[in-house]
Amino acid sequence: MNILIVFAHPEPKSFNAAMKNTAVTTLMDQGHSVKVSDLYEMNFNPVGGRGDFLQMKNPDYFHYLVEQAYASDTEGFAKDIAEEQAKIKWADLILFQFPLWWTDPPAILKGWFDRVLAYKFAYAGGHRFEKGLLKGKKAMLSITTGGSPDEYGEGSRKGPLLDRLYSVHHEKLFYCGLEVLEPFVGWGVQSLSEEERELLLKEYAALLIEIDDVPALSFYQPV
Ligand SMILES: Cc1cc2nc3c(=O)[nH]c(=O)nc-3n(C[C@H](O)[C@H](O)[C@H](O)COP(=O)(O)OP(=O)(O)OC[C@H]3O[C@@H](n4cnc5c(N)ncnc54)[C@H](O)[C@@H]3O)c2cc1C
Repeated sequence: MNILIVFAHPEPKSFNAAMKNTAVTTLMDQGHSVKVSDLYEMNFNPVGGRGDFLQMKNPDYFHYLVEQAYASDTEGFAKDIAEEQAKIKWADLILFQFPLWWTDPPAILKGWFDRVLAYKFAYAGGHRFEKGLLKGKKAMLSITTGGSPDEYGEGSRKGPLLDRLYSVHHEKLFYCGLEVLEPFVGWGVQSLSEEERELLLKEYAALLIEIDDVPALSFYQPV
């Protein structure tokens, strides 16, 4: 498979970086082709705006969706966006590696969604969810938390982690047609012992070796 890893952590010695490195090594050992978008290392600009486009359809009034549609029709995206979109076209599977920050991905990754998963590139009128333009590809989140499974359990104050991740799983990835696999979660990694963290990396590697067997999340079918 062609696998793109979108990595969003500012520290190359972090546990998230160790997970990303584990994924690269494991997947390449399995014969997969792997590309990494290391968003901090790339100094990826997460702020969507006029700079996203080589030329504007209407320079007098900036309307983001209108300009995204125009750029999709005219190959008019700025270089950094076009490069990310080319990687998505190449990929069969996209892995997202990030720490949970305020129950969301870090802002640099939110900006990647805003700018790269553009209108008429990733979705369009009549092309959402099951008919999204990225249909046929898969995606999976690999995340770490500070919180424990209990803090994100059923009936907990924070609520189930899958509910917190719905906005990424359903409203971004599935919205664009991607088949979304169950996430891999490294719970409370800071509180683990060194040995427990090493074990977690081994569990992640074992899961990636059997990546074809990871089940997809099931969502309700929108009417
Ligand atoms: C702004 C912000 C908001 C947050 N919001 C939330 C939230 O809403 N919910 C929540 O649950 N958490 C939250 N957190 C906590 C956050 O999710 C965790 O701090 C993060 O997931 C930890 O991952 P890390 O890669 O940064 O860990 P690190 O701190 O980088 O690593 C943890 C430990 O692993 C060690 N390590 C690195 N490499 C290896 C290796 N190869 N083998 C073994 N050990 C290794 C490191 O040296 C370190 O001791 C938040 C944090 C921030 C900064």
